[in-house]
Amino acid sequence: MIYRSKGPKSFDQLGYLLQKAYEGRHLSLGELECLLSTRDPDMLTSLFKTARAVKEKNFGTSIYCYGFVYFSTHCRNDCSFCFYRRSNPSSVRYRKTDEDIIDLATALEDSGVHLVDLTMGEDPVLHNGSGYGRLIEIVQKVNDAVKVPLMISPGVLPSDIFTDLTNAGGDWFACYQETHNRRLFEQLRPEQDYDIRLLQKEWARRSGMLAEEGIMIGVGETIADRARSIQIMGDLGARQVRAMSFIPQCNTPMSSRDTAQFLEELVAIAVMRLVYPDRLIPASLDIEGISGLRSRLEAGANVITSIIPPSKGLAGVAQHELDIDGGGRTVSQIEEVLDGMGVRLGTPADYASRIEEWKLNDRSMGVVH
Ligand code: SF4
Repeated sequence: MIYRSKGPKSFDQLGYLLQKAYEGRHLSLGELECLLSTRDPDMLTSLFKTARAVKEKNFGTSIYCYGFVYFSTHCRNDCSFCFYRRSNPSSVRYRKTDEDIIDLATALEDSGVHLVDLTMGEDPVLHNGSGYGRLIEIVQKVNDAVKVPLMISPGVLPSDIFTDLTNAGGDWFACYQETHNRRLFEQLRPEQDYDIRLLQKEWARRSGMLAEEGIMIGVGETIADRARSIQIMGDLGARQVRAMSFIPQCNTPMSSRDTAQFLEELVAIAVMRLVYPDRLIPASLDIEGISGLRSRLEAGANVITSIIPPSKGLAGVAQHELDIDGGGRTVSQIEEVLDGMGVRLGTPADYASRIEEWKLNDRSMGVVH
C-alpha cells in the first residue's frame, strides 16, 4: 500500500507550483510530495504539459537514444526484484565474447544510437577479487571500435578502478540505488552496502565520468521516499536521473507483488523534469516496449534507453524478452514514434558536445580529482 500525501488542492495551487518550477525556483520536499501525488486527470494534463515545456526550453525538440549491450547476465548478488539474481535457476545466463560485444556495439552505432551502454550483472568472473583488468580491457576494446560515448554499468566497484575505466573510454557510470530508504534498500538489495553503492556515483564523478542514478517505482516506497530520492539524485550531481516501474519477475521473492502503476512512473518523470530541467531523463523501452514510449516522452523524458538489436541473443533488464527479437527496440522503430510527435533525434555531435560541456564543468568546479 502506497502512502499518498495529498495532491494539489486546487488548480491555483498546482499552477503556483508549476510556475515556480518553470521559473527554476526551488521546490521544497513538501512541494515535491504534493506534485508527486497529483492524480486528477486535468491536473495531470497540466503537469505533463509543463514538464514538456521545461524540456523544450532546455533541449528543443531533440531526443537522444542509447543502445544497450547486456554482455553478461551472471551475477553474484541476490536482489529481490531481479530476474538475474544468483538464486534464480530459470534466469537466462550468458556471457558474450569480446568479439560479440564489439560487433553489437558497432551495429548499434551504425544504426544511429548516441551512446552505447555496456551493462553486466556483478559477474563473478569479472568481479573476481584479482583485479578488474578484464572489464577495463572490454571497455578499451569497445572504445577503440566505436566513436559514440560509452556508459558503463558493471555494478559496485572498488574506488581505485574508476580512473582506469575513465581512461579506457568510459564517459558515464550508471549504478542505481533504486531507493534511498535504507530499510527498503536492505530488502531490495540484501547483503549489499547502501553507502558503498551511493559512493559509486561520487567516485565516478571524481574520476571524470558523468553519473546516472535511478529509482524504482512500486517496490513499497512511499511518496515521501520518492520525493527524498529526487532530492538526493540532485545532491549526487547525477546528470542523468531515471525512474522505472517495478515489474514482478518469476522465481524471485517479489514475484507475487503487483506490477507498478505506470502512471506513477510518468508522474515521477514529470516531477524530475521540473526539478532538473537540463538533465537527461530516460524513457526505457524495458517496461512497456515501444508502446510505452510516447507517454514517457510526453511526461518529460528525453533519452530513449534499452535499444537492443534483434536476434542477437541479448536480454533486457526489467523485461528480458519484451519487443527484442521482433525488432521493436530499434532506432528505425522509435523514429516512427518520434515523427508522429513532432520531435526528432538530436545529432550525435549535439549529444557529444552536451556531455563534454558537463565534464568540463565538473573539472572547472573541482569535482574531478
Ligand atoms: S539487480 Fe543487478 S546486482 Fe542485483 S541481482 Fe540483478 S543483475 Fe545482480
